[in-house]
Amino acid sequence: MSDAHEVPNLKVVDAFDLDDELRSILKPGEMNRDAQGRRHRLPRYFYEVPSHELALRTRLTPHFGLNEFTLVDLKEAPRLQEFPRYVPCAVRTLAFYLEQFRSACGASVHIAVNGGYRSPAHKLSLGSTPHMWGTAADVYRIGSSILKTKEAIEKFNEIAEDLSDDLHVLPYGHVTGDNADDHVHLDLGYLTLIPREISEDRMEQPQENRPRFAFEDRRRKERRNSVIVGSDTE
Ligand SMILES: [Zn+2]
Repeated sequence: MSDAHEVPNLKVVDAFDLDDELRSILKPGEMNRDAQGRRHRLPRYFYEVPSHELALRTRLTPHFGLNEFTLVDLKEAPRLQEFPRYVPCAVRTLAFYLEQFRSACGASVHIAVNGGYRSPAHKLSLGSTPHMWGTAADVYRIGSSILKTKEAIEKFNEIAEDLSDDLHVLPYGHVTGDNADDHVHLDLGYLTLIPREISEDRMEQPQENRPRFAFEDRRRKERRNSVIVGSDTE
């Protein structure tokens, strides 16, 4: 009855099935080296975001919208500045951790432009960074604190580290990649996610001209809301 419940389920794509240009930008399943020379396999499954409007309407958690992880400027590959956009499916897990982090901080958490997902073709993607996995966020403001001082960055880094061993932060400092001096960087490492709707039974080559995709199952809450009120049984 209301527009609020008309957000379609997110479409999950196997990036091996996308066109040549997108595959060359997203590099699904390819190995990528970090600054220490360790190799990490890039994500293969992405949410396809058809429009800015849908990105704005899609909440990953109560306080984080999909659009906050897809804000990029001209440093991103031109094709990924257009819609449809692609974001690794692990972004939802990141949003969950950010939601916990927000509670622990007791204030709103603001992600910078270019501070969410960055493709391997993004000009800031020098060596493997979890931003290329959709599992990192650069936060430039928390509540009214602009994160540009050693004190502010260390305070919130500590909150993140106390929250979970899954969360990694960059210490205050001025070495790009190793430090942060104008934001708090939070990441979950090189986490990839295989959506439950996806079948892994196929080889990695794109199959003929038949793109593979699935729509994410409805959120439990939406399912509950669509059930006729009257039954009290859980
Ligand atoms: Zn970062």
